[in-house]
Amino acid sequence: MESTVAQKLEALVKLQNIDSKLNSLEKVRGDLPEEVRDLEDELEGYETRVGKFNSEIENLEAEITKNKQSIKDAGKNIKKYEDQQKNVRNNREYDAITKEVELQQLEIQISEKRIKESQARIEQKNDEIKDTKATLSERKKDLKNKRQELEIIVEESKEEETKLKKERDKAAKAIEPRLLNSYNKLRANANNGLAVVAVKRDACGGCFNTVPPQRQVDIREKKKIIVCEHCGRIFSDVESPVLAEAASKK
Ligand SMILES: [Zn+2]
Repeated sequence: MESTVAQKLEALVKLQNIDSKLNSLEKVRGDLPEEVRDLEDELEGYETRVGKFNSEIENLEAEITKNKQSIKDAGKNIKKYEDQQKNVRNNREYDAITKEVELQQLEIQISEKRIKESQARIEQKNDEIKDTKATLSERKKDLKNKRQELEIIVEESKEEETKLKKERDKAAKAIEPRLLNSYNKLRANANNGLAVVAVKRDACGGCFNTVPPQRQVDIREKKKIIVCEHCGRIFSDVESPVLAEAASKK
């Protein structure tokens, strides 16, 4: 069943009208869906940051444990050396052991210093976690509000949207796939969502460039599908055909 160009155009206009209505419903929602998504991403970022701080703290705590063990080991060594010192045979041996003890004491000092450093850094990380969590809970409140706002708006327009989507499916089925494909592509590229437009006051209803009189005559005849030579939009008809009528009278 082959449809005429006029029928094809009529089907396209119908689809365009439905899509334009769907677009205005989306406009009512405005930037809210995007704002909600942005906030969700932001929150995720904060959660990741807290997780990172926590694993850094874990590493620092492991470092502290290691240093505490070093202190214990050094203490044991010192005790061992001091026992050995009781049984030395000469001063040379005594001095050598004293040096070993001093080294172990130095080891203890270094470990203690490292523990203090790690503890300071843990404190710092905990402060950062606290700050991040404060921001996080504030942002969570924002997100909750925005989600509610969006939910209300979506709820309000849901019925209308469902109805329009059903109509759209039906209207789209009436159009041959190749033409529908061009229509969808045109709409995707048009910032006003218009793929099918009429000529209004001698200009393209999509890009507002002038449409020559002879072309307007062709558009009105509907013998073939004519697109705007500037923007590629499909012309459905000519409204207020001032020039076109003048041209056809010639
Ligand atoms: Zn145009």
